[in-house]
Amino acid sequence: MNRGVTPQSEDFSAWYNELVAKAQLVDRGPAKGTMVIRPYGYRLWELLQAELDRRIKDTGHENAYFPLLIPESYLQREAEHVEGFAPELAVVTHAGGKELEEPLIVRPTSETIIGEMMAKWISSHRDLPLLLNQWANVVRWEMRPRMFLRTTEFLWQEGHTAHADEADAMGETMLALGLYEQVARDIAAIPVVPGEKTPGERFAGAVRTYTIEGMMRDGKALQCGTSHYMGANFARAFDIGYTAASGRRELCHTTSWGMTTRMIGAVIMTHGDDKGLVLPPRLAPYQVVIVPIRDTAPACHELAVRLRAAGVRVHVDDRPHLSPGFRFNEWELRGVPIRLEVGPRDLESGAAVLARRLAPGKESVPLDTLPSALPVILEEFQESLLQRATAFRDEHTVTVGTWESFAAAVSTGWALTLHCGRPSCEDLIKAETAATPRCIPLAGPAESGTCVRCDQPSAYGKRVIFGRAY
Ligand SMILES: [Zn+2]
Repeated sequence: MNRGVTPQSEDFSAWYNELVAKAQLVDRGPAKGTMVIRPYGYRLWELLQAELDRRIKDTGHENAYFPLLIPESYLQREAEHVEGFAPELAVVTHAGGKELEEPLIVRPTSETIIGEMMAKWISSHRDLPLLLNQWANVVRWEMRPRMFLRTTEFLWQEGHTAHADEADAMGETMLALGLYEQVARDIAAIPVVPGEKTPGERFAGAVRTYTIEGMMRDGKALQCGTSHYMGANFARAFDIGYTAASGRRELCHTTSWGMTTRMIGAVIMTHGDDKGLVLPPRLAPYQVVIVPIRDTAPACHELAVRLRAAGVRVHVDDRPHLSPGFRFNEWELRGVPIRLEVGPRDLESGAAVLARRLAPGKESVPLDTLPSALPVILEEFQESLLQRATAFRDEHTVTVGTWESFAAAVSTGWALTLHCGRPSCEDLIKAETAATPRCIPLAGPAESGTCVRCDQPSAYGKRVIFGRAY
């Protein structure tokens, strides 16, 4: 049986689709576009979730839970919001054996229902800011599903906050973006670029949308998290207001921000190679797999106990009916950072053979030193992944001045370009190259000139990243 996957270089899309299944991350659900997240994939999500949840709480937010079913009339209160989501909505019209008087929407996002509750809970400036977060599933009907990247149902967290004024709400919008950048970089080893979306790419109902964009190994961009400043749009629609210290009635300014199971797709496509997954140690369900050879299983389980005490997530693969070579290949495909092989002769000399997922060759390491050595080796591995991904991103990002160089840059990666900011010009570029504006990087230096496509004066006062995207 061939356990491998189609090489990335041959067909990136086939590589991805085969890998998510063969690495036992997901399986297809029976309803179109749904996914079953298997234990190995779910553990990855739990590890990411724990890191993000801790940061969300450390910055003063509280978790709550709101209903899955939302009255249809709620969505209609914010015109842009309902227009943006209408094509993706799943609607419940019958329940309890009867047609419902008012249809219920399966939540695509929770601005409306949380807005309704905020209006009830906030009355004075002393109630602000109100900082909420929800971990939940959402449903957005997907015509072209792709596991983790676009599925009809996915998991996420959605932060929803209300503030007294624009300055406070914008501070919150950027704080959430910063948390996402930190988690993507420090935990998932993805060197994302934080920036603002152009008006055409804004969230439905937002005044400003910010994003973190990662570059995948096929040169395409993946939006890894977004943070929105809503102005008073939702406050107006849901009457979220407060009495100011002056005694005047004011509208709140709100934000929302989300990171989803799409991040697992980002990890796969940022680090994976022809042999399969490569998992950052901080997200790997198993950081170390020990493969006993012949009758060394008891000693391997003892070693595992000592490694767990040292804080290492370790698994002993003692399936005796499978050859060592078969087991090595399987854990390589499933992206385990470090493999330890222990044979009878290794045991006699008090050592194990250590293999790193990304380095050729193996080395013999004394068993006694493993509990102290492995955490260091795993940290080095984590760091090397971030460095490798950063180098890849930088090599595939080109500052362009001509249309020819723009078209060449977006065929293999990103173009940093001046653009006029007109949606019609964005559409033209998309039709000709499949590239879209990914973000206006926050860190970009001030620069202006003429649009790379139409020669009109450039907008935004700095360069924009264009690229093909998932
Ligand atoms: Zn233009």
